[in-house]
Amino acid sequence: MQKRKLYLDCDGVILDTIRKSYEIIENQNLTTRDEIKFFYEKINWNELIIKSGEIDHSISKIRKLSNFFDIEILTHVHSEVEAKAKFDYFAKELPGINVISVPKSIDKCDMVDPNGAILVDDFITNLEKWKKKGGIPIKFSDSGKKCDFTTITDLTQLLEIDFAIKLK
Ligand SMILES: [Mg+2]
Repeated sequence: MQKRKLYLDCDGVILDTIRKSYEIIENQNLTTRDEIKFFYEKINWNELIIKSGEIDHSISKIRKLSNFFDIEILTHVHSEVEAKAKFDYFAKELPGINVISVPKSIDKCDMVDPNGAILVDDFITNLEKWKKKGGIPIKFSDSGKKCDFTTITDLTQLLEIDFAIKLK
């Protein structure tokens, strides 16, 4: 049987890099948009990934999900260093699962074909654009806060959702 395409966001879905980096941003008292942009461009991503760790055993959950979905990781990046760090991390942890690094200036829905494919993301704007282009948006939220999209708090919940849209 053909598996449905599933794109997973990295930061805030698989890795706890958002929470960890906000912690550093607060400690360093960075407040302006430029300061924060510069911070993300310059930070050592290998170190940030290790310090952040997985969200709720995401890696083993993705291994399980890969039996049912055709998974790729679709992640926005601020720099080549970040792209390389994520590539290296997932090559080791999830061999066989492709990482697509998307420059910040490009929308995820323009990088790949969203038609009939699922995107799990913690950032609503990505999901809104994904839906407009025929994709299936799923909001990941560790707080379970409600929004207009189907929301999951655990990646394995994807196995319980009935994706009514037919496979191509
Ligand atoms: Mg994210």
